[in-house]
Amino acid sequence: MRICENVYWYREKGWMDANTFVIKGDVTVLIDPGLSEYAWRKCEEMREDGIEPQEIDILLITHSHPDHCDALSVLKKHTNARIGLHSSQAEWASLLSEASFHFLGVKPRDFKADFLVEALKAGREERSQGERNWLEVLHTPGHTPDSVCFYLPSHAVLLCGDLVFERGIGRTDLPFGDEDALKASIERISALDVEILLPGHGNIIKGRENVRKNFAFVMNFFR
Ligand SMILES: [Zn+2]
Ligand SMILES: [Zn+2]
Repeated sequence: MRICENVYWYREKGWMDANTFVIKGDVTVLIDPGLSEYAWRKCEEMREDGIEPQEIDILLITHSHPDHCDALSVLKKHTNARIGLHSSQAEWASLLSEASFHFLGVKPRDFKADFLVEALKAGREERSQGERNWLEVLHTPGHTPDSVCFYLPSHAVLLCGDLVFERGIGRTDLPFGDEDALKASIERISALDVEILLPGHGNIIKGRENVRKNFAFVMNFFR
């Protein structure tokens, strides 16, 4: 489903799946592929929106829980897209994968980084095209140590993974969760100019005032 110019949403399909987002541009990016068993249904939905999965250049994740990252290797194999990880994700992926298996009974399929997203940032000056769709990567630990948000300043769109949801916050009772870190991350992120908030689960939130109210509401969980 098209959310705004160049931004598409494929809703989570079931247990242990997550919302998937595609940002179309000179470089087309897919964020949080979700669980492998639902990947083809999402690819079908992309085709209905006029996006061929083969067009995807880069696969990114908000964190390495299986509901977000499991389909990375399947999609990489079928699209030849490159996997970009934040350095914290490259560092934590295997530990979080083991922990997910023990606590959730699900282990994500193995994946590794083709490049670190920080490297993209360093190359920003060299980019002559695609600047309009430039994605900022913001490290927002708490739900996991490797959680990141993706911010599209040109559209005031924020993809926040399991940081916050509509009237909810990411759980911190799973291994390596940290409530104080989550609170600090939410406080930092809530200062951004956000017109459209795209969480990893549940509904999306549209409108600056609704996004602001939601951030104000979720801070109550910490009091
Ligand atoms: Zn998670
Ligand atoms: Zn999740």
